[in-house]
Amino acid sequence: MPTLSSALDPRSIIVLAGLMGLLMSVVLFSMRRSYPPSIRGLREWTLAPLASFVSTVLFALRGVVPDIFSIVLANMVLFQGCILYYAGSQLFLGHERDTRAWSAVTVVLGVVLFWFSEVQPSYPIRLAVFTFAISGLFFAHARLYLRHRTKRVGRRLMTGLLLLQSLVAGLRCLSAVLGEAGVGMLDATWLQSLYIVMYSLTALMLSIAGVLMATDRLRLEFEFMATHDPLTGMLNRRALIERCEHEVTRARRGAGDGALSLLMLDADHFKRINDAFGHQTGDEVLRELALRLQAPMPPLARLGRYGGEEFLVVLPGLGHDGARAVAERLRAGVGEPFAPESPLAAAGIGRLSVSIGMAVFQGPADTLDALLARADAALYRAKAQGRDRVEIA
Ligand code: GH3
Ligand code: MG
Ligand code: MG
Repeated sequence: MPTLSSALDPRSIIVLAGLMGLLMSVVLFSMRRSYPPSIRGLREWTLAPLASFVSTVLFALRGVVPDIFSIVLANMVLFQGCILYYAGSQLFLGHERDTRAWSAVTVVLGVVLFWFSEVQPSYPIRLAVFTFAISGLFFAHARLYLRHRTKRVGRRLMTGLLLLQSLVAGLRCLSAVLGEAGVGMLDATWLQSLYIVMYSLTALMLSIAGVLMATDRLRLEFEFMATHDPLTGMLNRRALIERCEHEVTRARRGAGDGALSLLMLDADHFKRINDAFGHQTGDEVLRELALRLQAPMPPLARLGRYGGEEFLVVLPGLGHDGARAVAERLRAGVGEPFAPESPLAAAGIGRLSVSIGMAVFQGPADTLDALLARADAALYRAKAQGRDRVEIA
């Protein structure tokens, strides 16, 4: 009758875990090639399971190669692999890589492991020291994610796994201190087998969590690119129209007391700015305009870039008077003088102005197309009557 410990032979588990790590490394490597460089940390996450694989090969060669490779070097490579996971997370979360202190710990670990394998051999001491260090490393790694807490599945999985790793390593350290270590790593006590199985699965899961997180980030980036204008960072025309459709449907159902207004804005004499100062300065002015328009916006309002130097604002819950007040505020905000230190002031650009056409939702029979047409007609009138003004359809 095979027992649990004989069925879960540590050497086989270690080799299998190493192979899984190698496969994950291949997956992460191919992902890294096709992902944009804005998703950072993938290089480190590719190297981490690779290091883990190398360490498992060294562990499995115990008795075949000198102990300095299968014990000292194997543990150092494994530790370095875990540092690489950590470095990948730091980069992924937008920090700079900061793992020098942990690399120093790797060197100290190497010296200690060398001493307790070559000079004064003691498996329990080696185990206690290594599991203590790695528990600390996993905890530091988990804390990084706890500082960036979100509800996203990949990140939650990562945080949970790191905490679990830290706990398992901590318990193993405790068991070693209490004299439950066994006589060697390949000694198949049930605790040892459990520790190695847990460890192997969790290492695999860490890579899976990394893949989930990177894919999630990519999806968010694409989603943002598909809905935002790259110059101003505002909603683009497509997203804006979708938003307007949504608000018209809601207003028809009576949301916000059935009130809804649209503002169509167009920068005045923008062509002159381009002609006099160049297209690049024109772009800067568009960015500045976007900032000025965003500042006084009511909370439910949505603003976006409708076309070249045209913007559209949808104002749910606001009828004639409310929307008109917003329009006047926007117009006045755009006309504020530049701060003297502003590069646009230095370039010699004078006062900016916008013309605004406003349309108010007229009840369930009204449509978005009709609203847009009325706002456009009002804007045309504002231009014809001298610009820098609000006209209402
Ligand atoms: P009006 O007061 O009648 O609106 O005059 P205008 O010069 O603003 O109107 P017109 O529509 O003739 O010109 C708009 C200009 O906006 C033309 C185009 O070169 C410029 N424009 C559109 N998109 C961009 C952009 O992304 N960057 C820059 N720099 N200029 C842009
Ligand atoms: Mg225009
Ligand atoms: Mg214009």
